[in-house]
Amino acid sequence: MNVGFIGLGVMGGPMAANIVKGGHQLTVFDLNADAVAALVKAGATAAASPKEVGAASEIVVTMLPLPQHVEQVLTGPGGVADGLAKGGLVIDMSTIDPRTSRRVAAKLRERGIAMVDSPVGKTSEHAVTGTLTLMVGGEPADIARAKPVLDCMGNQTFLCGGQGAGHAMKMTNNLLATTIMCANTEALAIGVKEGLTLELMVEVMKTTMGWNQQLAMAMPKKAFAGDDSPGFMIKLAAKDVKLAVDAARQMGFEPLVGAGAHATLDRAMALGRGDRDTAALLFLREEELDIRVRPMAHKQAA
Ligand code: NAD
Repeated sequence: MNVGFIGLGVMGGPMAANIVKGGHQLTVFDLNADAVAALVKAGATAAASPKEVGAASEIVVTMLPLPQHVEQVLTGPGGVADGLAKGGLVIDMSTIDPRTSRRVAAKLRERGIAMVDSPVGKTSEHAVTGTLTLMVGGEPADIARAKPVLDCMGNQTFLCGGQGAGHAMKMTNNLLATTIMCANTEALAIGVKEGLTLELMVEVMKTTMGWNQQLAMAMPKKAFAGDDSPGFMIKLAAKDVKLAVDAARQMGFEPLVGAGAHATLDRAMALGRGDRDTAALLFLREEELDIRVRPMAHKQAA
């Protein structure tokens, strides 16, 4: 199939490479010339604009940072919709809000182009191995057309419902996962300041309702190992939580817990940690409280 890909970053780069490995003809675009060069080396063809990607493709995948990027690249002037023929298909895999997702899909539909939303779960390592979790929304016939391309990138697919349902699932998941990470950091810092050790807290929490996957899996690999290289950057976590906080406000209620997580992340960004992994939330607390939560043997990564 002739496939297009726009947004060749930490996630999109390896995902695009896996589409080439899957035997498809791939045309790519990114604002970053180095990212494009890496994909050309892997067997893709470079295009000069989103419109050119559309013109060369039957299916176009987007993996961009923010909702406004997705809207602009797909439906803005010189965007994918200006090049993609009627009957074409867009798969947006970025983490954006369901409202923008549905608006963009409606604009594309007016031009005879279908859209499937399929944001992804797991990490950049899983993007490399083609084992991402895919949260898919859209019309069944469009999802069936997208499947050969999606199968190159993920190995666990969840059909979440109609247009925007994949984005709704991803936004909901990331609100919870990130809020738990923020809560862990706060609780562990308070515990250490009270004289408890990380080892004791982990041992006790394993037996209580305080236990969670962030404590079990993510923090030992990154925060407790002193490694805040990205990973999942604080600025992206903040963006995801903000999507959910805004959605809740549009629904007419104040998401107090989510707003607290967002304030925590916002503050970390103001202190210059936006490009670091969420592990840096713990390191910031350590600096501020003059404590050491992590086992002493580990050093913070450069
Ligand atoms: P990234 O910043 O590494 O990559 C984004 C890429 O998009 C960059 O190469 C950038 O140059 C390009 N880009 C930005 N605006 C553009 C435009 N107008 N036209 C063309 N290219 C443009 O981000 P990432 O980590 O790859 O994340 C991409 C999306 O996936 C985000 O929505 C993120 O929230 C989501 N996500 C990330 C992770 C993760 O662990 N990093 C996991 C799941 C989902």
